[in-house]
Amino acid sequence: MGGVTIRGISKSYTRGTMVLPPLDLDIADGELFFLLGPSGCGKSTLLRILAGLVTPDAGSIAFGSRDVTYLPPEKRHAAMVFQNYALWPHMTVAENVAFAPQSTGASRTESARRTADALAVVRMSDMAGRRVTALSGGQQQRVALARALAAEPELLLLDEPLSNLDARLRDEMRVEIRRICKERHLTALYVTHDRNEALSMADRLAVMREGRICQLGSPTEVYRRPASRFTASFLGDVNFIAGEADGRGGFATPIGVFALTGAAAGRSWAAVRPESIHFADQNAPGAFPARLVGRAFFGDRTEYRAETAAGTLVFNDSSYLDREKGEDCFLALSGGLAVVTE
Ligand code: ADP
Repeated sequence: MGGVTIRGISKSYTRGTMVLPPLDLDIADGELFFLLGPSGCGKSTLLRILAGLVTPDAGSIAFGSRDVTYLPPEKRHAAMVFQNYALWPHMTVAENVAFAPQSTGASRTESARRTADALAVVRMSDMAGRRVTALSGGQQQRVALARALAAEPELLLLDEPLSNLDARLRDEMRVEIRRICKERHLTALYVTHDRNEALSMADRLAVMREGRICQLGSPTEVYRRPASRFTASFLGDVNFIAGEADGRGGFATPIGVFALTGAAAGRSWAAVRPESIHFADQNAPGAFPARLVGRAFFGDRTEYRAETAAGTLVFNDSSYLDREKGEDCFLALSGGLAVVTE
């Protein structure tokens, strides 16, 4: 199948407003790659350029060794899955799915084989004869996915496919979509603004801001070693503790000196996730005093806010040691510190 090579792709819809400045990106063969970013940052534009639905102003796109920059959508062998399913209400499940192979000129038997195969993969075989209007949102999204698979695409493009589903179904479909992509060794580009979706599903992800990729890496890399305050905040809750790096791995803050590798000498911030702060004994190494000023219970964890010499810090506690607002306590940091300079 091959990967995707994007070189110097740029786009402005109206003169003078660059939605995508020249952008380079490589997606590996069989990779489930995510574009993550706030609404309006240009994710869908890039996806539509790959599908052939939007023409770029400049640059080139190759699927494997095949240059597709000037090919119409139907010649690209890319299939798209949309947020709103885009199914035909007057057709059955099987007819909707069979439409994909039929429209590429596959024979009747070949279409039937691919339809049955795709419906089995999304676990919808017993619903083949149903009208799509008689299906739940989750089932309709499975049909849309089956239709994309039945096209046997070189590239699968997913545009916020789970946004219309409720939370439980979304969790289920995340696992399913990843399973299908891996089982079929699909190269896929998935666009979302949902960090949990990207973190839990992606092989690699790119965080976008105003048309530019500001960081690219595996979910763990980007979550644990964010390059900027923007990426750190976009991927989850985070505390920024201002301090001074000594250039030898030490980072001095109002709540103590911490080991922070990779920090160049000078003022910057330590990005500290809520799960990296915990209650500690007064005499524990690195313990610093705090006063609890807020508490919210979420069942699996309690989120606390604490006043410290480094400002208000937010942290999570999953133990059953309930502490009250107003209590004085000691906290410590464990692992998971990253330095961010902008
Ligand atoms: P995202 O998918 O990240 O929400 P989009 O790619 O949809 O972002 O949009 C990026 C920017 O381009 C936005 O400012 C949006 O208003 C603008 N835009 C998108 N499509 C069009 C269009 N067809 N015509 C004019 N502007 C558009």
